[in-house]
Amino acid sequence: MIRAVIHMLLHVAVPAAIARQYYGKIFLRAWLIMLATMLVDLDHLLADPVYDPERCSIGFHPLHQYPVIAFYVLLAAWPKTRLIGLGLVIHMLLDGIDCVWMHYET
Ligand SMILES: [Zn+2]
Repeated sequence: MIRAVIHMLLHVAVPAAIARQYYGKIFLRAWLIMLATMLVDLDHLLADPVYDPERCSIGFHPLHQYPVIAFYVLLAAWPKTRLIGLGLVIHMLLDGIDCVWMHYET
């Protein structure tokens, strides 16, 4: 339970910290764009059960596959899509950390 709460808080706090540090003048816009990339978790709706706290989303859900993550890195490299890519890469890193934490918890 505590892992799930920390995970959700990090999904909000890490993009906020990045936006604050690197996009000061457009902090709110940058943060909201990165928050919007959480929509990538809509792919969980294709899974049964939709939410399983013991399931690692990386490599399981369609939009959490490694080739797709490589595409997110490319989005982050291109200035016009940087914030979307950055939000997605941060999301995948946080999901990955959750998978590692889950692994050592059991
Ligand atoms: Zn996710």
